[in-house]
Formats: sequence, structure tokens, C-alpha cells
Amino acid sequence: MRRSLSIAFIAACMFIPAWSIAQQKKYKAAAHPAYSRYSMFSPVKITPQGWLRTFLNYQKSGLTGHIENAGYPFNTVMWTGVVNDKMEDRFWWPYEQSGYYIDGAIKAGYLLRDTFLLNKAKKQVDFVLNKKNPDGRLGPQDLKGRWNRWPYAGFLRSFMTEYAVTGNPQIIEVMQKHYATYKGEDFADELDLANAEELCWLYGITGDVSLLKMAETAYATFKSDHKYRDRDGRDIIFGSDRVPDYHGVVYIELVKIPAILYSYTGKKSYLDEALNGIAKMEKNDMLASGIPSSNEHFNGINEMAGHETCNLATIPYTYGHMLQITGDARWADKIEKAVFNGGIGAITKDFKQQQYFSAPNQFIANFDSNHLGYNNARMAFLPGHDTECCTGNVNRFMPYYIQQMWLKTKNGGIAASLYGASEINAVVGTANVPVKIVETTKYPFEEAVTFEVQTKKSVKFPFSMRIPAWCTGASVTVNGKQVAGTVVAGEFFEINRMFANGDKIAINLPMSVKLTNWPNNGVGIERGPIVYSYPITAKIDTISTDYKKATKDFPGLGLNPAADWNYALAINNVNNVQVIKNSNYTYPWAEGAAPVKLKVPAQQLKNWKLHSYVDTAANKTIYQTSPFPSNRETDGDSKDIELVPYGSTLLRVTVFPKVQ
Ligand SMILES: [Zn+2]
Repeated sequence: MRRSLSIAFIAACMFIPAWSIAQQKKYKAAAHPAYSRYSMFSPVKITPQGWLRTFLNYQKSGLTGHIENAGYPFNTVMWTGVVNDKMEDRFWWPYEQSGYYIDGAIKAGYLLRDTFLLNKAKKQVDFVLNKKNPDGRLGPQDLKGRWNRWPYAGFLRSFMTEYAVTGNPQIIEVMQKHYATYKGEDFADELDLANAEELCWLYGITGDVSLLKMAETAYATFKSDHKYRDRDGRDIIFGSDRVPDYHGVVYIELVKIPAILYSYTGKKSYLDEALNGIAKMEKNDMLASGIPSSNEHFNGINEMAGHETCNLATIPYTYGHMLQITGDARWADKIEKAVFNGGIGAITKDFKQQQYFSAPNQFIANFDSNHLGYNNARMAFLPGHDTECCTGNVNRFMPYYIQQMWLKTKNGGIAASLYGASEINAVVGTANVPVKIVETTKYPFEEAVTFEVQTKKSVKFPFSMRIPAWCTGASVTVNGKQVAGTVVAGEFFEINRMFANGDKIAINLPMSVKLTNWPNNGVGIERGPIVYSYPITAKIDTISTDYKKATKDFPGLGLNPAADWNYALAINNVNNVQVIKNSNYTYPWAEGAAPVKLKVPAQQLKNWKLHSYVDTAANKTIYQTSPFPSNRETDGDSKDIELVPYGSTLLRVTVFPKVQ
């Protein structure tokens, strides 16, 4: 006990400098927006455990800790100097990519309280914080070209995190000076609009209404002038019926902006626009992975569709804002689905490589096999890709997940919104009593989640737990006794009572198997938040020193199928699906570890083969993932195949043709 107390004390001293007490007179902590149900805790209040902690440690030993292995611009000075980019009209380009990385690294560092990661990220943050440019603008050089303000929106999320942890008033001062060099209209052009988040956040802390006005002006100008939303005839109008056809990353980044404006102004029309913008995107583009079809533009739903890895981060971030603002539990379901499936399924489990494009169905992912367009190697698992955005963004998605597992209410309450083994330290109730809540679970592989309250004195506070929309028959107990009240799927269940030290709240979230229907007579299988895939054994080619964005320790991996994968499912209902549990694993996402597998009857389709064509310039045959054959020729033999969690696979079939 003595030892753990002293560690806690050292940790507190490390991250809360002395001036944090003095600054409280000048600035508030990050404000809870007036029209938002929940807000986030500082990352140092949350301690991930179990596989979540292992995941962040893989980030540390993998790309987040060693991003220079990914090549340009991550092997440059990043935000601590002038990056000599040849693209003279786009000086901002390398800062966008490294800004994503720095934001992910500082959050991972604080969540782990890890000095190595924090030193790497804080070197970048502190340089920008302390560099005094005469005009008050932040950053190492004057960023030029269209969208030159966009990199600030990504990078300055690291400042918001730093402020949440330290309360350093200098962060607010330099950000205010920076934004005072612009007018609202300066942020109207497409991606630049993302800065409205920072403007609103600063308004919440300073009370300076000119900042909120700038954010509203930026959005109004964006809406009123088509030129700010034009990409080769494509357009963004969140509030209309227009089918989304824009660049997916841009759309998903921006659709949260009207919702954020609502959270500070209470103007309902803003929220309606965001809700409509997301609803129509999900209707037209949401894939089995939980990530919308986006290569690079939205591209509709079919068995071949895939997504850009940047959206592993934009979905939990944008949906996280929607969750916090509306308090609607279904946003949390969607975040879990995106992170556990599309997210973890786009990386190697040691976090050394990532895909640029990944897909629910990917039967081959070598250096030539990209069927989603642009550079051939974009579906291969590489440390760094030809275009660098995804390599930056991949560092963010799990820190975003973990930071939104626990949310706070304005009245001293706590909500457990996303599940996973972890601890939260918070002050609760009207008297601000410090408590620790320890969440123990093997979620999403087990249905039981328990919370133990640790407190020096009993305290009354509202404690909410999310009941996922996919769950029927959820139950809640306190100290072993069933809690009165109706537990509703798709809503938060609140217990408002006096909690004493050692109180245990337990929820059980039964996970049933569900079939999902997809175009072209396709079928998928889910159980709780997990999507299931057939894992395809791969033969792996590696490249290292001969490729500029890979190294000997972080090689690029090209995956070729080394076993049959051409299965159609012979199922009409869930009675055909057998659930197999396995408790003998250490890291649940490791290949072959699968804590839960599903056994299903399947038949091979003789006429379903990889698509191939001859590249005459390179004089070789290129193989790619292929669509369902229009005529499904089975060999007549039914056999059982085992499906595993999507996130544990590299090559996979997720959307299956049904046997006709
Ligand atoms: Zn990207």
C-alpha cells in the first residue's frame, strides 16, 4: 500500500506542475459545454488495463514509439523546425501528417503515464508552445497553400490534451493570440473549418465570445459559398438529402462541427444538420467493419468496398463528440464496432505496420494487389505509405477510444460509456469526493463487466452504464442484488445512490449471434460488438531496406493467400452458428488466439477466384480481391469453417456470398 501511494504521488508531481494552482484564478479548466450531456476526463485520470494496456504498449514498441521507421515526414524534425518540402504551394503538408502523429502519441503517453512516449510528443508540443513568432502565429514556418490552416486543427488537439492534464495557462494565451491573427472567414474553406473545434474550446475556457463568433462565421461562410466545398464537382451539404460523395476523411472531420456549435450555442438546427449528415453517410456507405466506404471518396456499399485508415481515427473522434453532446448510447456502440473491427483489422498486431486502404473482404494484400485505387501497395501492411496521412492517424484511434471510455456529467456523475478493463479517478457528487472505480472485464470477449467503487467516505452520485442496442436481457446488480428499474437496450442505465467503499456494480450484457444482410446476396455475422471473419492463412513477403518507408526492424509486409478462402455460407438463420469459447489466450487479438470463434456451415465456390490481369508495362500478372461470382457454382460439399474476430485477421472474408 505504501509503495503504491508513493508511486501515485510521484505521478501526480510529474504531470501537475506548481503553476497549475495559480492559473486557476485566470482560466477555468476545459469547460463542459452548456448543451452537452457529457464531457471528457483528463487522460491521466484513466488507467487502461488488460488488452487495452497491451495495445498501447504495442503502440509504444511499434510505430507510435518509433515513428521514424515510417519515413517522411516522420523522420524529419516534424513541428520543431522547417521541413523542406518540395511542394512549395503546400508547405503545410508534412505538418498535417506529423500533427496527427503528435496528437496520438501525447494521448497514448498520458494514458500510459509513459515518459518515453511523452518525451517524444512533448518535445514537439513544447517547441511550438515556446516559439515566439512576431505575428503570434503558431508553428515553425508560415504555412502556405489551400487548406494551410487545416494542420493546426489536428496538431492543436495535442495542446487541448496538454491543457487538460497540466492546466498550463500559456497554452490558452498562445492559442488565443494565434487565432486572433485570423478572421472567421479564414476557416471557411473545407478542411480549414475543423479549427472551429479549437475556437469553441477556447471560448469555453476564456468566455471570449469573439472566438465563438469566428467559429459560427466560418461555418456559415462554408455553407453559403459553394467554392469552399467543391472538389471536382463534389459537394458537402449536411442538412440536405444530397447523397454524400465527398472525400470521406474531410466529410467525417467536418460533420461534427455543427454539433460542436450546437453544444456551445443551443441552436438546434446545428445539431440537426450533423445528425442528418451522419445518418445519410451511414445509410449509403457504412460497411461491415463499422467504418464507411472511403477510397478516398465515399464509394457506396458492396462486397469489394473498403476504407482509408485515416477514418479509423475520424470515426471514434466524430462519433465521440456526438456521444458526449447527445448522450445517446448508440454512438458508443458504433465507436466500439469501428475500433474493434475496422480499426484493429487494419494493423499488424505488434503495431509496426498498417494498411492505407483496408476492407472487410481482403483476400490478398501484397505490394501490387490494391483494388481500391491509387498506388498499388496501399493495401499492403507497411510502416509508412506513399501518402502519409494514414500513418499519422493510425496512432490516434485507440487513445481516442480509451479517453472516451469514461465520461463525466455536469452534476458530478460518471458514465461508463465504452467498455474495457480500466480504472478511473474522479471527484463525484455535490461535495466533490474523490473516488476510484475499477472496471474488471474481458469485454468484448465476455459478457460480464464489474465496477468496484473505492472511496474513503461514502458518497452519493449518479453512475451510468451503457446498455448496448445489440443487447437483449441485460441485467444490473449492486452488491449481488438485482437493481430495480427497467434496463433499456440502446440507452444509459443510471444508478443514483449512496456508494460506499467496496460497493460492486455488475452488469451482464448477453451477446447473441446476428446475421447481417449485404448487397449481391451477401451475409455477415456479428456477436455483440464483434464482427466475425474467415481468417485466410497468408504467405508473407517482406521488404525492408530496399524501400524508403520501411526498415529492417519495421519491414513492409505483402500478404498472399496460402489457403482456400472462396467460401459461401449455407446459413439461413443463427441456429446454424455454433459459438466456441477459448479461455487459453494472452492477447485476444493475436492471430490464432480468438477467445470466441463461430463455427458455420459453408460450401466452396469453384468459380470464385482472385481477379487477375497482366500489367504489360511491368510484364507480370497482378492478382486482386474479387467480387462474388454472379453464378455461384458450389462443389456440393458442405463443411464447417471457423470464423474469428475481424480484428484478429489480416487477410479475411467478412461479407460472404450466400449459397443460392
Ligand atoms: Zn489517410
